[in-house]
Amino acid sequence: MRMGNNVTSYLIILCWYERKRLLIIGYVTGAIFADGYFTVLYRCLVMKNWKPIMIENSRIPVWLSYIAPIKIGAIALGIVVISRDTMTEQTRNHETIHFQQYLDLFFVGFWLLYLWDWLVGLVIHRNGRVAYYSIRAEQEAYMNDSNLEYLSERKRYAWLFDYKVKTPPYLDQILKEDDDNA
Ligand SMILES: [Zn+2]
Repeated sequence: MRMGNNVTSYLIILCWYERKRLLIIGYVTGAIFADGYFTVLYRCLVMKNWKPIMIENSRIPVWLSYIAPIKIGAIALGIVVISRDTMTEQTRNHETIHFQQYLDLFFVGFWLLYLWDWLVGLVIHRNGRVAYYSIRAEQEAYMNDSNLEYLSERKRYAWLFDYKVKTPPYLDQILKEDDDNA
């Protein structure tokens, strides 16, 4: 019953750490990845300090911008962040938030959810750019990237519950910008 015990310990610690927010996600990820208290504590307390590998002055964001709904300055792709210029601290913070979201959902889950949110946003808002800003991963990053202390106080998975694709906090502002650009 070693696995069962580990799942239970994972759940207890994760629920304590996330203030009971994450029962389902905790159960699923726990069932797959839990390996005792140490691993769980490690994931909760140490992984939040992990940083991606930063690659600056690359052509890749330029090429990707041809197929993206926005002009990409920097992009987080798994464990690397690639930027077309030198990154500001705010951009580094933004992309590191995405890197932590990757860790939340084990990379593949992040991409599936990112794409899903964009498609839902496209149906709701009928505008690719507004849909991009409505992706929950982007909402967390845009709302918090100017706070350079954010990553040390960030709650894992909170972005999935705190933001809605339908009503991003800055919706009025992006719609107004679209009007200004029209
Ligand atoms: Zn972003």
